Amino acid sequence: MRVGELTTFGVGGECRLVVRVTTPEELVAAVIKCEQDKIPYRLIAGGSNVVWQDAPFAGAVIKYAVAGELNKNLTITGSTIFCEAGVILADLINLAIKHNLAGLESLSGIPGTVGGAIVGNAGAYGQGISDKLIAIVMWDGKRVRVINKSAGQFKYRDSIFKHKDYLVLAATFKLERGEKKVLSKKAREIIKLREKKYPPQLKCPGSFFKNILAQDVSKAVLKKIDPTKITHGKIPAGYLLEVVGARGLKSGGVKVADYHGNLIINTGKGKYQEVKQLAQKLKGLVISKFGLRLEEEIRYLP
Ligand SMILES: Cc1cc2nc3c(=O)[nH]c(=O)nc-3n(C[C@H](O)[C@H](O)[C@H](O)COP(=O)(O)OP(=O)(O)OC[C@H]3O[C@@H](n4cnc5c(N)ncnc54)[C@H](O)[C@@H]3O)c2cc1C
Repeated sequence: MRVGELTTFGVGGECRLVVRVTTPEELVAAVIKCEQDKIPYRLIAGGSNVVWQDAPFAGAVIKYAVAGELNKNLTITGSTIFCEAGVILADLINLAIKHNLAGLESLSGIPGTVGGAIVGNAGAYGQGISDKLIAIVMWDGKRVRVINKSAGQFKYRDSIFKHKDYLVLAATFKLERGEKKVLSKKAREIIKLREKKYPPQLKCPGSFFKNILAQDVSKAVLKKIDPTKITHGKIPAGYLLEVVGARGLKSGGVKVADYHGNLIINTGKGKYQEVKQLAQKLKGLVISKFGLRLEEEIRYLP
């Protein structure tokens, strides 16, 4: 199967096999089996934050993403929700809203699974998945462990899971009381707003580069930046890219959106190398102009 078909970007060549799993137990069993049989493997969940290589992968892609089913992979007790990692993030958010629970609604419209969101500490509109997280059930390669939020080392679009070969199996969130009507209105508004940047059917992996934390930037560099563009303490990568003229730049089948500097789109037959070339070019332009190093938010796999 072509792995690109398992991703929202649509880039990526063939793999030896795809193993579809729907529970944490099946996920761990699939990983153990691959290790025993010495088959290389990679995990893809919603596939909404990855750029997969074109060269054939002589291994297994383990696909873990399931629509939520209350009482099976999502349970709710008071204001606490326990959720398996393969649950679609939107299902978790909808459940929270339905139960008058606030704290996740700003993440409305982010595709993918709860596990994928935890790995990349996904967020939007000032809210992050780790804000309301209290514990994570994970597989450390040898055993299942429950760790607290601080052990997850969450930072802006970062967590320990980006740096270690751990599996996120499930998570517990502690939410606040809210009002269903208000929360669902906010969620609907956010989804509507997001559709301008991400119209349905757009082939992309979300924002390509991370924004840059203003606190990490020298005063001399900050002087070159329009202060009105800094939001939630971050310099948007899209702003930097637009200043250097990134909009509309192309590399074969991939291009920067005409309306947003930090959005790389697959126009149909985009290739992995074309994506890498374009990303290199964009990074070079931003370094030359601002002396700032952009870092990919997406993950190149395998
Ligand atoms: C249209 C669009 C809009 C987006 N908007 C936003 C946004 O506003 N904010 C934002 O933060 N992101 C955004 N993204 C990026 C993406 O949706 C998020 O990063 C999402 O949380 C990724 O989840 P996923 O399940 O798709 O992960 P995948 O892309 O499948 O995987 C990402 C990485 O996590 C690993 N992984 C996945 N699940 C697990 C697990 N259970 N255990 C261990 N490792 C795992 C994978 O191996 C891979 O390395 C957007 C993407 C798109 C396409």
